[in-house]
Amino acid sequence: MKRGIIITIDGPSGVGKGTVARAIAKRLGLTYLDTGAMYRAFALLVQRSFINVDDEKELTELLLETHISLESDSDYNIKIILNKEDVTDKIRTPEISSLSSDLATKKVVRNTLKGMQRRLGQKGNIVAEGRDMGTYVFPDADFKFYLDAALNERARRRWRQLEESGIKESLDRVKKEVENRDKQDRERAESPLHPAPNAVIIDTINLTIEEVIEKILKIIGGV
Ligand code: C5P
Repeated sequence: MKRGIIITIDGPSGVGKGTVARAIAKRLGLTYLDTGAMYRAFALLVQRSFINVDDEKELTELLLETHISLESDSDYNIKIILNKEDVTDKIRTPEISSLSSDLATKKVVRNTLKGMQRRLGQKGNIVAEGRDMGTYVFPDADFKFYLDAALNERARRRWRQLEESGIKESLDRVKKEVENRDKQDRERAESPLHPAPNAVIIDTINLTIEEVIEKILKIIGGV
């Protein structure tokens, strides 16, 4: 049976991928796959279990006990469920951001999450958002987008987002965190962050979120 459409949206931290991907999924009636949330949920479990993250055996054992699901209501608000617990409000802290990026360098973690992501996307009809969606997880996607913006702008966007969710941080600290995470995401050996050769690259610096969404919908066209 032919699978449904797969749209991938990748890019660095704070570029607004989540907002854009959710809106595209909502407009087209597709499932929104927030893969960053999966890395974050696993990071929360690691933080709570005090394992040695450099010990592959301990990581593997923990991954075997990890069940992550994403639930969406009719308005596309996503709930992240980790082993039956709703962790949606617990995974956006700066500590979890940086731990998830550290764990995302580990082959065993990436392979396991990649497997989960492919299973969730096997029937298609998804908008998959992350760092390696168009490159490594869904290389045969129908439409691939890569959103970008200068570091200062992304730091400001992330800082605003954190403030809206009640997390107070200085802009400087947020900028450092975004910069470090990006460097690690781009330079890691396993599925590093880069645009797929056939991705449409959108520089979002002078665009509103609404303009980015319209641009993408226009390219997808008659779907
Ligand atoms: O997108 P978000 O900021 O929630 O992702 C958290 C971290 O998870 C990223 O910094 C990155 O290291 C990792 N990640 C990844 N591959 C993905 C999605 C997220 O490596 N597809």
